[in-house]
Order: sequence, then structure tokens, then C-alpha cells
Amino acid sequence: MLEVENLVMEYGGFRAVDRCTLTAEEGHITGLIGPNGAGKTTLFNLIAGAIEPTSGRIRYMGEDITHLSADKRFHKGLVRTFQIPHEFHRLTVLENLMMVPGHQAGESLFANWFAWGKVAGDERETERRAWETLEFLELTHVADERAGNLSGGQKKLLELGRTMMTDARLVLLDEPAAGVNRTLLRKLEEKIAILNKERGYTFILIEHDMEMIEKLCHPVICMAEGTVLIEGDFQTVRSDPRVLEAYLGET
Ligand code: ATP
Repeated sequence: MLEVENLVMEYGGFRAVDRCTLTAEEGHITGLIGPNGAGKTTLFNLIAGAIEPTSGRIRYMGEDITHLSADKRFHKGLVRTFQIPHEFHRLTVLENLMMVPGHQAGESLFANWFAWGKVAGDERETERRAWETLEFLELTHVADERAGNLSGGQKKLLELGRTMMTDARLVLLDEPAAGVNRTLLRKLEEKIAILNKERGYTFILIEHDMEMIEKLCHPVICMAEGTVLIEGDFQTVRSDPRVLEAYLGET
């Protein structure tokens, strides 16, 4: 579904992503791990189209999207989740679902109220879909709560819900477990698994929480110094000496 070939992202003389080559298969939850500064978030920015690579290629569903705008990628179902913009904290949970992005060029645009518009088309249909999403995420009891008042885990569920309001096919999840308590973490894992198995979403998931990676991801790709170190099942990757060394060398 996604092929990244020899991708390079250079800042000055520094390569945040360095000849990175990987694929993500449709129907899978591919895990992306690696020590801090390995280039994972930069790779997501490149895949989503928030930044243009120095060199290399990105193919999505058979099409070369290397130079396609973030907006066009988004409309092709390549969706990256973002934190709920600050302005949206005042809106209710339901309203947050009723608003979907018109652009996905980067977090700065996302934070801009005017970059968002109400869902095109039938508003009642949108509302029906929003309620269905709330039911799926078990968030109906907070539908009228301001998003800013939600717990960390509830916010992550809502972020997932906002993705479900788009026509996403490949979802890039950046550290969904960060700041989530144990109970909601299990729920979040369960929802991601159902979206993958029953609703046809493909995911690439960056995560430092190894329990979540082990439960959800196959294959697991470990990055270090901007490139892929190893790919395989969780146990193989975790016990590989190169991976252990990369994590030990973390500063
Ligand atoms: P973490 O797990 O801590 O989020 P990461 O694997 O996501 O790390 P990146 O955030 O992609 O790593 O950063 C990779 C490297 O690129 C880091 O050394 C970072 O400082 C550098 N980097 C990222 N963005 C820029 C930028 N805009 N300008 C200069 N250097 C950058």
C-alpha cells in the first residue's frame, strides 16, 4: 500500500532521514520504533506531505505521491492524526467530530480554525456518523463535554474518532499511548485492532510503549539514525543486538 524508497530528508548537512526504504502492507498495523531522534516523526511528515524530501520516492496505492500536496494525499485516504487544535478545546466532543479537516498540510494549518470547515454534504448524515463514532469509541456520555476537559486517553480516542470521520484508508498514528492511563490504553488498543480487522483500516504506528507494539503490530520496523535497522516480528526485532545497541546508545 505504501512504499518508501531511498528517502532522504536533510536539514543543513544533517540527515534526519537517511536513505530510508520500507513498505507498509494493506490490512496490517506496521509498528515503527526506534530511539529518540531516529527520524520516525520526520518520516511521518514526509509520508503525510507536510515536508518535501531532499531525495527519494514515496508510492501510495501504486501512485508516486512524492510531490503531491498534503491535501491531495489526505483526500486519497492517507491520513495523519494530530492533536486536537487548541481552538477546538472549547468545542464539544460531538462538534469536534462534526468538523473535519479541509487541509492537512501540517500542524500549523491544523491549528488554524479557518483551515477547517463543516463536513460537506448532508449535515444530518454527518451527525449520524458522529454519533456512531461516539458509540464505537464508548464516548457517548461525554458528547456534550468540552474537548478540553477530556482526560488524555479520551482525547486520544477522540483523535481516532476524527480520523474515522474522514475516508481514511492508511492512518499514521504518532504515539497514541503517550499520556494515556492504563485502562484507556487497553480500550485504545482494542479500538485500533477492531478498526484494522473489521473496518479495513491500515495503520502505521509510532510508539515507545512496547506492550502496545507487541499486541498490535506486525511487522515491526526499527529505525535508527534516519534509516531502517531491521524489520520483522516483535520478538525478532526486540532481541536483535543492533536494536539493543541503538537503544543503549540513546542520549
Ligand atoms: P522521538 O522518538 O524522540 O519523537 P523521532 O524518531 O521521531 O524521535 P525525529 O523527530 O524525526 O525523531 O527527529 C530526527 C532528527 O532530526 C533529530 O535529531 C531532530 O533533532 C532532527 N530534526 C527534526 N526536524 C528538524 C528540523 N526541522 N530541523 C533540524 N533538525 C530536525
